[in-house]
Amino acid sequence: HADLAMYQAKSRGRNNFQFFDATMDLRAARRLSLESSLRAALEREELQLYYQPKLDLISHRVVGFEALIRWHSHEHGAVPPDRFIPIAEETGLIMPIGEWVIDETCRQIAQWRAEGYDDMPVAINISLIQLTRTDLENTLVGHLHKHGIPSRLIELEFTESVLLQDFETAMDALQSLRRLGFTLTIDDFGVGYSSLNYLNRFPINVLKIDRSFVTSACEDQDAAIIVQAVVNLSHDLKLSVIAEGCETVEQLDYLKRIACDQVQGYLISRPMPAADVRQFLDSDYLYQ
Ligand code: C2E
Ligand code: MG
Ligand code: MG
Ligand code: MG
Repeated sequence: HADLAMYQAKSRGRNNFQFFDATMDLRAARRLSLESSLRAALEREELQLYYQPKLDLISHRVVGFEALIRWHSHEHGAVPPDRFIPIAEETGLIMPIGEWVIDETCRQIAQWRAEGYDDMPVAINISLIQLTRTDLENTLVGHLHKHGIPSRLIELEFTESVLLQDFETAMDALQSLRRLGFTLTIDDFGVGYSSLNYLNRFPINVLKIDRSFVTSACEDQDAAIIVQAVVNLSHDLKLSVIAEGCETVEQLDYLKRIACDQVQGYLISRPMPAADVRQFLDSDYLYQ
């Protein structure tokens, strides 16, 4: 009996190990395959920017957009940014991809200006590596010049973790970006490393309240209190405040009532390709 039990344990162990191993292999293989497709994505022009509007809650006008990257891979179909941006960050591919986002955003802003949409700032999401390991200031300024647009039309969104990972480097970079006239936003505010201590030290302009608080604000009293507190705090610190992920009229009414400055979310519009933006802007009286 003892031998039999030992044999069973061993073979179970081995099988478990093989099963585990096979799953790991599959995951690693999938990732490798995504990674090699991503390497080719830029040349193959599989990347695209979508634009999601920001609605001002006082003027009821669209006051800008956020550029959100989309990857339509020949091999993998549509791959969401939450899936491939981390791979791009780990492999360094975020450097060429991030620069492409900057170039494409500037090109698009220049085109909208040429078409008469003059004051339409666009926010770009910036990764940690772009902030700390590339010359973000020079890259941005180079592309502004190339396309002939002023820095006030570019906003930069950083998550808290990006800023707190390497405080000194982030501080230096933010200060020179601010001096250059870019608008600086803390994205996904309230999740992650929230530290109230850095708020008045970083030279930022805008806090963007994370979607998770906005989603629960109308059902959960605690979330509502947090959203209200962030709005008040922002105003006390002379920052403007935007809420992301607004999907319902109730949420919009609540945000308006507590004097949140701007809002973004599916209720106003999903992110859309540049081709749809003009029509969207021409019909923004819908939100009056
Ligand atoms: P994020 O910057 O916080 O962007 C907001 C995300 O929420 C976007 O997802 C947007 O499509 C989604 N969203 C907007 N409104 C709503 C809503 O009402 N409901 C729900 N459920 N979702 C909403 P997306 O486009 O999949 O991007 C995910 C994340 O990927 C972004 O989060 C950002 O961190 C990153 N990302 C996107 N584009 C870029 C880029 O060009 N560069 C870098 N470094 N990161 C990017
Ligand atoms: Mg963002
Ligand atoms: Mg966000
Ligand atoms: Mg987010």
